[in-house]
Amino acid sequence: MPPIFDKPTTEQYDYIVIGGGSGGSGTARRAASYGKKVAVVEVTPNLGGTCVNVGCVPKKLMWHAADLQDRLAHHAPGFKFAGAQNIKFDWAAFKPQRDAYIRRLNGIYAANFDREGVEYHLGRARVLSPTSVEVTRPDGATYVLAGAQITVAVGGQPSVPSEAQIPGAGLGIDSDGFFALETQPARVAVVGAGYIAVELAGIFNALGTETHLLVRGDTVLRTFDPVLQDTLTPWLETTGVHLHRRTHVTRVEGAAGGPLTVHTDSGPPIEVDVLLWAIGRHASTKGLGLEEVGVELDGKGDVVVDEYQNSNVPGISAIGDVQGKWLLTPVAIAAGRRLANRLFGPEKFKNDKLSYDDIPTVVFSHPPIGTVGLTEPQARKKYGDDAIKIYKSSFRALYFSMVDEAHKEPTVYKLICAGPEEKVVGVHILGLGSDEVMQGFAVAVKMGATKEDLDNTVAIHPTSGEELVTLR
Ligand code: FAD
Ligand code: NDP
Repeated sequence: MPPIFDKPTTEQYDYIVIGGGSGGSGTARRAASYGKKVAVVEVTPNLGGTCVNVGCVPKKLMWHAADLQDRLAHHAPGFKFAGAQNIKFDWAAFKPQRDAYIRRLNGIYAANFDREGVEYHLGRARVLSPTSVEVTRPDGATYVLAGAQITVAVGGQPSVPSEAQIPGAGLGIDSDGFFALETQPARVAVVGAGYIAVELAGIFNALGTETHLLVRGDTVLRTFDPVLQDTLTPWLETTGVHLHRRTHVTRVEGAAGGPLTVHTDSGPPIEVDVLLWAIGRHASTKGLGLEEVGVELDGKGDVVVDEYQNSNVPGISAIGDVQGKWLLTPVAIAAGRRLANRLFGPEKFKNDKLSYDDIPTVVFSHPPIGTVGLTEPQARKKYGDDAIKIYKSSFRALYFSMVDEAHKEPTVYKLICAGPEEKVVGVHILGLGSDEVMQGFAVAVKMGATKEDLDNTVAIHPTSGEELVTLR
């Protein structure tokens, strides 16, 4: 077992990192690679943070399971696989296997720290000054780490309405609770319209749970390009999700563990076994001591940072979800590594920082969504209507030619180009394989590709992705 530290091993660390998740691990390991003395304080015994424990990784495994179920139930019969539709997912058997995989990843994180000389201090951190951090161990004892630089990488947690806002709200679970479910609920209500609501509702629905999705507006993913909202929202309904538009929960009744009655302002009560809040997340800055040492937080509790991840207090930086921008694992890692480069690396990195422009992202819906750059409304606002040219295509992937009509998934591809040179400033895609197609096109956008560059790229046939280099 890699060591866990319960006291300081030096009077002065070069770098103290609070949080052993994506960003914290990324920045700590990079700093250690420069020979620095680094301590990471992590309150849980499971390194890896949200992504590994209750985020990207277990979510993607559940998405794969849901995708397989979809293919077996709805696609395989078209390819003449007899009986495939009778194969059912066993949630109770899968969950321990999924958990075991996550425990392996926790171990790999700890082993990496050990191998690379990063100290893992297990305990709750509180900032005492710009150069010291108090660690409260699981047994309640405390000690202080002193260091020249502190980086806050404590991430965030799900937001849930208070009992005062919605009586009975506490009977619901959040995304952390989703990953704790030992068995598959028969009926679920998911509240929210963002990444998590769409992804978890999609998983439940594909696996056969009666799924209600309660959104405040008319569509899901309201901050995404309109073509994605307008394609995915009705498709969710086609696949069997009970979509409740313009709906607010007013009261929840029942017992913890269900069944529950969810009262809304837009129709009869909804009877479910599980209610899941997916209405956003907030930074874990409460009780961290930041305000006491003068670190500026915004109204939501996120740490306010400049483009170099510096807070307003010299010596204290923040990376990842806690700074409230682009809550994605690769963003936290990239910002953390670049921060360590700048603080501890060679001269060539003295101005290193992460550019938050053109960050690609995928929503693991069914089918998945990929997006990079500006949405059409953002592009029109930035460049003006006359400077924007839109290329769009809707089609059925070849795969679905063998699948019955009701289950032929949509594909929609959209390019947003700006200026006379038709620089590609936005790519928005939905359809089979979009999660994998996106990365390469993100490179192209980052490099400043024009429509002509895409046109000059030879297509790969037969794929869906080829459509992006043949748009007219
Ligand atoms: P975290 O990974 O949350 O790490 C913060 C760490 O700090 C935690 O381990 C926490 O225990 C620790 N900590 C908190 N307070 C203290 C304290 N006082 N003392 C010591 N330690 C403390 N992103 C993607 O890119 N792709 C996805 O597919 C994706 N799916 C997601 C699915 C779900 C359900 C969720 C919730 C998130 C998902 N994300 C995804 C987002 C991604 O998980 C986060 O952006 C990422 O984990 C942020 O990394 P971080 O280092 O900022 O914080
Ligand atoms: P999001 O911010 O993505 O979405 C939350 C949505 O919930 C809002 O857009 C809003 O939609 C709705 N909402 C907000 N408040 C309320 C309310 N009081 N009642 C009902 N609905 C409400 O947050 P998530 O929690 O979904 O995810 C957090 C972040 O984690 C994401 O932004 C993303 O960065 C990251 N993540 C990334 C994933 C990936 O990369 N695949 C997967 C999962 C999470 P509206 O205004 O339309 O009502």
